[in-house]
Amino acid sequence: MRQRMIRVLIYMAILLLMANISPVIDSFMHPEIPYFDPEHLLVGGITAGITALLLSLLISHANRMASVAHELSILNKKLREQSSRDSLTGLYNHRYFQEMLRHEFLLAQRHRTELSCMMLDLDLFKEVNDTCGHPFGDLVLKATAEQILHEARATDTVTRYGGEEFAVLLPNTDLEGAMRIAERIRARAEAYTHQDKDVAMRVTISIGLASNRAHSPKKPEELLAFADQALYRAKKAGRNKVVAYSELAATKHSDSCGLARENFTEKPQAP
Ligand code: GH3
Ligand code: MG
Ligand code: MG
Repeated sequence: MRQRMIRVLIYMAILLLMANISPVIDSFMHPEIPYFDPEHLLVGGITAGITALLLSLLISHANRMASVAHELSILNKKLREQSSRDSLTGLYNHRYFQEMLRHEFLLAQRHRTELSCMMLDLDLFKEVNDTCGHPFGDLVLKATAEQILHEARATDTVTRYGGEEFAVLLPNTDLEGAMRIAERIRARAEAYTHQDKDVAMRVTISIGLASNRAHSPKKPEELLAFADQALYRAKKAGRNKVVAYSELAATKHSDSCGLARENFTEKPQAP
C-alpha cells in the first residue's frame, strides 16, 4: 500500500516536472510565443511549488525509511549478540562455543596454525551450593568467569559450556602456551577467596587441555573430546590440576573407567 502511494507520488512529481518544463520547450520551439507570458508564469510557479513539495515529501520519506532500516539492523545485531550469551556470567554460551569450535578448527586446518581447547570444571561445586546456598554458588560462577577472562586474550573464545563448566578456544596457541594460561587460571582461582556477607570460601578448578598439532584430532568434536578426557584425568588425579590430553592415558582409561566416565559426562545443566 505504502509502496503504491510512493509510486503515485513519483509519477505526479514527474508529470508536474514535465508540465513545468513544457513552457520552456515551447518557447524554444515557437520563438514567436513570448515565454514570460503572465499565464505561463502563474502555471509554472504553481507547478514548480507543487513539484518541490512532492519531492521534499519523497525525500523525507526516503530518509525515514533509511533510519528505520538502520535501527532494525542495530536491533538485529543486539538480538544475535544476546542469543549467544549466557545470562548469569555474560560469557558466550554453549551454542556459540560449538559454532566457534567448528570455525576455528577449519581456520587452523586451512592456515596450518595452532589451536588449543581448554575445558574447565569447578571442583566439588555441589558442596559449595549445599553449604553456602545457590546464590553464593552463582557469585562463584560469575567471579570465575571474570578470572578466566582476565587470563585469556582478546582473540580467545571464553564460554560457559554449561552448569559449572567453562570452555575456552585459544587460536594460534600451542599446547605449551595453553598450559601456561591454564596454570595461571588454576592458580588465580586457588588464591581467590569468594566472599558474601558472612560466607567466605575458596573454590578450585580442574582443567583439561588438547591441541590440534600435539594431538591431531580429525574433527572439531574430537578436539573437544580430547580436552574433556584430559579434564576427567585432572579430576581423577585429585582436582585443582591442569592436565593435557594423552592418547595412552585415554586408552587405559577407556579400558578401565567406562562407568565412571559415563557418570562424569552428564549433560551440562541449563544455567
Ligand atoms: P566435581 O569436582 O567432580 O566436578 O564435583 P562437582 O560437585 O563440581 O560436580 P557435580 O556435577 O556433582 O555438581 C555440579 C553442581 O553445579 C551441581 C549443580 O547444582 C551446580 N550448578 C550448575 N549450574 C549452576 C548454576 O547456574 N548456579 C549454581 N549456583 N549452581 C549450579
Ligand atoms: Mg564440578
Ligand atoms: Mg561438571
